[in-house]
Amino acid sequence: MTGPQEFRPDADFARKLEAADPVPSRRDHFCIPPMPSDPERESIYLCGNSLGLMPRDARPAIEAFMDDWARYGVEGHFEARDSWYDFHEPLRAPLARLVGAHPHEVVVMNTLSVNLHLLMASFYRPTADRYRILIDGPCFPSDVYAVKSQIRFHGFDPDDGLVWVRPRDGEHMIRTEDIEDRLSGDHGIALVLLAAVNYYSGQHYEMKRITQAARAAGCLVGWDCAHGLGNVPLNLHETGADFAAWCHYKYGNAGAGAIAGAFVHERWVREMDLDAYAAMPRFEGWWGNDPATRFRMGPDFTPVRSADAWALSNPPILSMIPVKTSLGIFDDVGLDALRQRSMRLTGYLERLIESVGSEDVQVITPRDPAARGCQLSLLVSGGRAFFERLQAAGVICDFREPNVIRIAPTPLYNTYEDCWRFAEVLREMKT
Ligand SMILES: *Cc1c(COP(=O)(O)O)cnc(C)c1O
Repeated sequence: MTGPQEFRPDADFARKLEAADPVPSRRDHFCIPPMPSDPERESIYLCGNSLGLMPRDARPAIEAFMDDWARYGVEGHFEARDSWYDFHEPLRAPLARLVGAHPHEVVVMNTLSVNLHLLMASFYRPTADRYRILIDGPCFPSDVYAVKSQIRFHGFDPDDGLVWVRPRDGEHMIRTEDIEDRLSGDHGIALVLLAAVNYYSGQHYEMKRITQAARAAGCLVGWDCAHGLGNVPLNLHETGADFAAWCHYKYGNAGAGAIAGAFVHERWVREMDLDAYAAMPRFEGWWGNDPATRFRMGPDFTPVRSADAWALSNPPILSMIPVKTSLGIFDDVGLDALRQRSMRLTGYLERLIESVGSEDVQVITPRDPAARGCQLSLLVSGGRAFFERLQAAGVICDFREPNVIRIAPTPLYNTYEDCWRFAEVLREMKT
């Protein structure tokens, strides 16, 4: 973006950067929450890592669905403006583009933790000498619970079966070579399940290199993309991962608890021999059956040749509507362009924080733009009290005990001016 000599920490400069950015913000497509203390002003919303903002077009789309339901009842499955029977089909292509997969490798279904379990039912098949699961620390608690309960479910001891890789003492990011070291020798690891972007540090791992190392070590590989979707290019197919899962309510902007997504690599779908595919351990329901025979309602399951084979139920249309709206916005901007804007925006915010020079704040997210998404994690002295002062000043961000604040300038709707306003708050709080 700007050369070092050009940077200025003032509001005019922020507006200049916004005007000059080749990828304009889509802020006017979203509802920006007002400041609680002054409803006339917009809050400094830096919490897209936790809950994305509401796309304005979601509301009329939901109202149209309600009208169709009122008007058609069950006939809405085929008569509605966007028929419910195949409502999920138009989501497939834009979602595949967003995660870097073939359309038949992705499916919209359930919620994230549920999908992790369904995928582990197929891809965590422990044996007496290979039963461990490698995860990154700190790890989102739900994933730890999911993994531990899977290990226990198969009759192993989670204390023995769960293997962590963490940053070295005094460091905040995990070194790829430390992951590779874990995967060498006699490790007993059956499954590697890491976050694409670590929720705590904001580190974006070298997904392809790690996937290749894990596969070379005979492990299956899954990625939890909760903080990666809509944030960084995931290139799931190309990384070679066996599976992945994510939610759509963080950078996906689809609303709290929105229907989630999953990826299954084509080697487990199209490249499998049909008998082996049908015989795979998999928890099954009618929506995973080949649509050509689904409504024959026969007793034998024929898995469809796509990630949809892992779907169980007919999907919630209401929950899919904001996903569809949001995917349309991503498609309109394009992930590559959005990522470029994101790197500029986060780099600028980092620069501003440095210019404040507060001794109370240390950025622990990697400095290398390739090793992070938009989120910056700040280690703050003063812990929760510091966070509450930010809140009182109109900043919406989140806090992780005991002393980490996460801020995410989300490139679809945050602006350079948001970053500048945040830095001004920090400046005023400086002791
Ligand atoms: C947000 C998040 C979850 C949340 O799981 P849900 O099933 O959607 O409640 C799980 N894991 C990670 C890594 C997350 O970031």
